[in-house]
Amino acid sequence: MYDILIVGNGLAGLSAAITCAEAKARVLLVSSNQPERSQSVMAEGGINAALDQKGEDDSPAQHLADTLRAGCDLADAQAVAGLTTAAPEIIRWADRLGTVFSRDEEGRVDQRCFGGQKKKRTAYANAGIGRQLMAALSRQCRKLESEGRIEVREDLRLVSAALGDRGCCGGVFRRVGGGEPEGIAAEGLILCCGGPGGLFGNNTGSLLSDGAAAAALFSQGAAMADLEMIQYHPTTAAGPGKRLLISEAARGEGGRLFTYKEGKPWYFMEEWFPEGGNLMPRDVVSRSIYKVVRELGLGVEGRDEVLLDISFLPKEVLDTRLAEICRNCRTFLGVDPAREPIPVWPGVHYFMGGFYVGADHACSIPRLWAAGECACQYHGANRLGGNSTLGAIYGGRVAAASALGLPPLYGAAEKKALLEREVSRQRELCAAFSGSLRPPALRQRLQELMREGMAIFRSEESLTAALSRLDVLEEEARGLAGGAEAADSLTLTCQLALSRAMLLSALARRESRGAHQRSDFPARDDAGFRAVTVARCGAGGNINVDFRPIGEDPCK
Ligand SMILES: Cc1cc2nc3c(=O)[nH]c(=O)nc-3n(C[C@H](O)[C@H](O)[C@H](O)COP(=O)(O)OP(=O)(O)OC[C@H]3O[C@@H](n4cnc5c(N)ncnc54)[C@H](O)[C@@H]3O)c2cc1C
Repeated sequence: MYDILIVGNGLAGLSAAITCAEAKARVLLVSSNQPERSQSVMAEGGINAALDQKGEDDSPAQHLADTLRAGCDLADAQAVAGLTTAAPEIIRWADRLGTVFSRDEEGRVDQRCFGGQKKKRTAYANAGIGRQLMAALSRQCRKLESEGRIEVREDLRLVSAALGDRGCCGGVFRRVGGGEPEGIAAEGLILCCGGPGGLFGNNTGSLLSDGAAAAALFSQGAAMADLEMIQYHPTTAAGPGKRLLISEAARGEGGRLFTYKEGKPWYFMEEWFPEGGNLMPRDVVSRSIYKVVRELGLGVEGRDEVLLDISFLPKEVLDTRLAEICRNCRTFLGVDPAREPIPVWPGVHYFMGGFYVGADHACSIPRLWAAGECACQYHGANRLGGNSTLGAIYGGRVAAASALGLPPLYGAAEKKALLEREVSRQRELCAAFSGSLRPPALRQRLQELMREGMAIFRSEESLTAALSRLDVLEEEARGLAGGAEAADSLTLTCQLALSRAMLLSALARRESRGAHQRSDFPARDDAGFRAVTVARCGAGGNINVDFRPIGEDPCK
């Protein structure tokens, strides 16, 4: 029996687990993989904090102002103030745990420019901040495990939560590779299961970020917020089966975007935005590239591509701070950035929306918390590069602190009965599948639909068309396969519901703000829509979307 059950061992999950263990809680950290394989490892560019080490006159207040501005005033200012205030201490903590940050000539943690920020605020580790942070946090976690202060399982996939009338009392899991559902009891469950990239396929993230846990919990009634806010990273390239990220670090070090106009290079970002240039916030850069290609017809050789030039940067910068980017381009694109520009186009990268949480990271269901990319907190309508690794570590801490020391909600027998009930429900739901349609084929069609429906620009027409296509998929899903594929069939039906919630959220927000651009409502409308889009799935599977004030308690 555990006090706290944590699902997901990326930065958010490790941070929550360390916080719980250090507070002497009985904690179980569960994931479907080793930490070395979580998406957090892929973070390249850096982590933000106003360290103000070199007299640059930076402060958490300025970090707060940049974050709120980039998020188009949709984030909860009080929660973001907590994040930016904690940021310098988080860097020092990560440093003490052994994160190998890049250093300046005096040995201080070095910082680089990132988009949408007025100061050099992004601490980095050449082009591999995620690997370094994860190595440090997982080593600390293993140390606590060896001291018997954390229990760890790396072979279990969360399929649902055990819920009673007072709230959550544990999770139901299946072993990776198959097996019957099994329940694990706890006083509270912290979800750190990453973003739902799997609804889109072909994005910059990890295949492990399949959105299955979020979809299952959404279908069980957990409210989701701002699902329409999906970040397209402006500089991604067509890699094998996914979008290869060309980190903002490339532009932070001086990289320039251009295309050809009348036979000559045209540096459109520098012309259109003389102040921010290539380092405008990501939504602005993505829209600009889209405009250059789709509206002005200036894609390179008629393709959906513009070019990113870093070839003129000093060899030392390419070989150290941008080494990973250069290596990836050579390996996966056959492009040598030291000699030629990199072809880029915006790709699905990050989800600002997710579980609807309050400042304490509590979800709409009591005893359920969410942190990291699966939660909607800090980023509003557009995330600043370098803020999500920070948000994951900080959010994991806040969720853990809020989950610690709470009295039992249920007696032991009641908990056992609730877990058994949920395990039986899972078995019954799976038994209902007896068709021949294999989930991967339908999922691929869902992913295509979502990439088109939730593209950079949306309209009532495109969203309604996507919803009609989704109706067809939902009808076909009645014929999904059972037997060994029943669990995946069930996951897919939940993913269909979460996808519907995303499309309905985008339809409901009849304005353009940050990552959400409506061609039929091109203006930002603070009077009507400076509010959080909240999607809920009712008992009969009906999905309802409404708007709630920013910063409201989700349990209200
Ligand atoms: C290519 C790339 C580069 C990036 N660069 C940066 C950067 O430079 N700076 C920055 O701030 N951000 C960056 N980001 C974003 C950032 O890395 C992520 O948002 C952040 O690390 C997410 O951490 P997390 O702990 O929430 O989730 P993750 O690291 O995704 O971890 C989620 C964990 O949950 C597990 N899980 C999922 N479902 C289940 C289930 N059903 N049961 C059990 N376990 C489950 C997963 O296997 C995984 O281990 C980048 C993202 C990408 C894709």
